[in-house]
Amino acid sequence: MKRVYNFSPGPSMLALPVLEQVQKDLVSYGSTGMSVMEMSHRSKMYQEIFDQAVELLKELMHVPENYKVLLLQGGATQQFSAVPLNLMKTGRADYVDSGNFAHLAAEEAKRYGEVRIAGSSRAENYTFVPEADVSPEADYVHITTNNTIYGTRFTALPDTKGVPLVADMSSNILSEPYDVSRFGVVYAGAQKNIGPAGLCVLIVREDLLGRAHPLCPKLLNWQVEAEANSMYNTPNTFAIYVAKLGFEWLRSLGGVEAIEKVNVEKAALLYDYLDDSRLFKPTAQKAFRSRMNVTFVTGDPDKDAQFVKEAAAAGLVNLKGHRTVGGMRASIYNAMPVEGVKALVDFMKQFEMKNA
Ligand SMILES: *Cc1c(COP(=O)(O)O)cnc(C)c1O
Repeated sequence: MKRVYNFSPGPSMLALPVLEQVQKDLVSYGSTGMSVMEMSHRSKMYQEIFDQAVELLKELMHVPENYKVLLLQGGATQQFSAVPLNLMKTGRADYVDSGNFAHLAAEEAKRYGEVRIAGSSRAENYTFVPEADVSPEADYVHITTNNTIYGTRFTALPDTKGVPLVADMSSNILSEPYDVSRFGVVYAGAQKNIGPAGLCVLIVREDLLGRAHPLCPKLLNWQVEAEANSMYNTPNTFAIYVAKLGFEWLRSLGGVEAIEKVNVEKAALLYDYLDDSRLFKPTAQKAFRSRMNVTFVTGDPDKDAQFVKEAAAAGLVNLKGHRTVGGMRASIYNAMPVEGVKALVDFMKQFEMKNA
């Protein structure tokens, strides 16, 4: 069996050593005689896996003592509702509209209170990350650190003037170091840089717990989950176990600081080539280029489609851009090896020679 280089935006590639460990443990985890999927989430054996996952994430991100790490369900999208339900104390929040998911988060928050757009690049098709002008009256300000669909990233965090900063970090968590103490809340769906879908990691500063709206469903209430150690109900036990293996893999490589260097190298390989290409053009503004999602076009939709098809036949799959933008997108998260990006650039060069 040959594995392909999978450039999917999510669910996306997992590191091979992680998959191989899952395979080894699948039918019987250690000497338990059962799969992790068959374990009670309250069992001692499973609790160890769970606690290790939390500890590893804290270690990798240098999470300060006064933060809680929650392992939740419902993906990042569920937090689009949970964030306002947990944090809108006076009913006002600021949102930076830097992409499709950022927009959806703001639209959802409007159902619960007054949302002020503190900066938007929507009218310019989200080709850059706008400046954030934060109102000191806001209960929080929400940003999306990496814009998965448009291939842009925040290169500097906004000055929030003491207003808690809430970040959707779904598509670049663990790809570069962040100072967690600058955030009130960080959350991320797992299926991009952590593990399987159906798991959402949430890191919350303890003083922000206990502010939830009375009608906030219990399952979305961070304080309830913090008190129950993320087990108010049955968590996504299997995804958490795979995430734990992913964290171990990342630590074995030298952690976030080490993988950042690899990510910078991978992104440079692609952007350097794109900047010189006579056929392909990068779509994000240079100063805001994502290191995780590289978006580009030929300018001719037929040629784009031909490229995506021929690349797939060569073992470079899922390069089609999001339906709202077209063109191509290469998602190169932590688990994508440098060799995969080199193979893609080589293929693009060949395609350019034949088609430019
Ligand atoms: C993928 C993604 C989401 C949606 O995640 P789900 O787990 O499908 O809810 C939200 N925000 C960002 C930035 C994403 O990349």
